[in-house]
Amino acid sequence: MKRGIVLGVLLTAGALSMAAAAGFQSPTPAPKVIEVEKLRDNLFMLKGGGGNTAVFVRSNGVVVVDTKIPGWGQPILDKIKELTDKPVTTIINTHTHFDHVSGNVEFPANVDVVVQENTKTNMQKMSVATGMPPSAVPTNIFQDHNGRGLPTRTFNDRLTLGAGADQIDLYYFGRGHTNGDAWVVFPALRAMHAGDIFAGKRPPLLDANNGGSGVAIGASLAKAAATIKNVDSIITGHSTVMTMDELKQYADFNTDFLTWVEAELKAGKSVDEAAAEYKLPEKYTGYTSSPNQVKSNVGVIYDELKKR
Ligand SMILES: [Zn+2]
Repeated sequence: MKRGIVLGVLLTAGALSMAAAAGFQSPTPAPKVIEVEKLRDNLFMLKGGGGNTAVFVRSNGVVVVDTKIPGWGQPILDKIKELTDKPVTTIINTHTHFDHVSGNVEFPANVDVVVQENTKTNMQKMSVATGMPPSAVPTNIFQDHNGRGLPTRTFNDRLTLGAGADQIDLYYFGRGHTNGDAWVVFPALRAMHAGDIFAGKRPPLLDANNGGSGVAIGASLAKAAATIKNVDSIITGHSTVMTMDELKQYADFNTDFLTWVEAELKAGKSVDEAAAEYKLPEKYTGYTSSPNQVKSNVGVIYDELKKR
């Protein structure tokens, strides 16, 4: 999830109530602009409106990976019409968060929705993510639409859809951002979508309410990097396209973070004391870190380590 979206929602709400109080008409909603980045002849990354969306055009139809925040499903469908005449047959959601699944309800009811099995459970309950104010998330968008957009097919560790140029390999390598983070690989294109377990070069959001784990995430990332072969381009949850070397580095970043948190706990530091001491290691060039995310992650990992 992006802090910016939450802030944006809050600012918009504030602006609307101010406008209403001043007797102004409601402002025209901001246009939903999707920016397309062509990665291959039949693979596109759609940016804007939440998490990055992948559009994979297969021989018989289109597979969409992640569907952004509420109201952005139709703009995705409109954009796909500019790219191909083929119908959307399948949605794959990388995980449960509302900025990756909400557009599902705007797709035709006959579209298959494929997710890791824990993500199906999470989507049915649609808990608020750790660190998010409850007001930032719609109650349950799927219940509001009579179950439309909920998963129709799940997998545990591994699932292959289609063959040859159309093949998609789905993997689950363990807990991280949530307990249902799917890795979506397009082997013929040497590309994949990693979702928010690799959202960008910064400390991850660890959503303990949806099974996320700061103890496991480094190992889950390392397993992905070691197992998935022949991929050059990784669509991240919220950042630019990255390489396998950058994924390996991100696994190290998270493993190093865990090692540091373990030392802080052993030294008797409180969450606040530890978070105040954190310094981004110099070798991780191009990384950013927010004090709030670091503090939240120290707290999540402390809770996990204390339960051991
Ligand atoms: Zn997420």
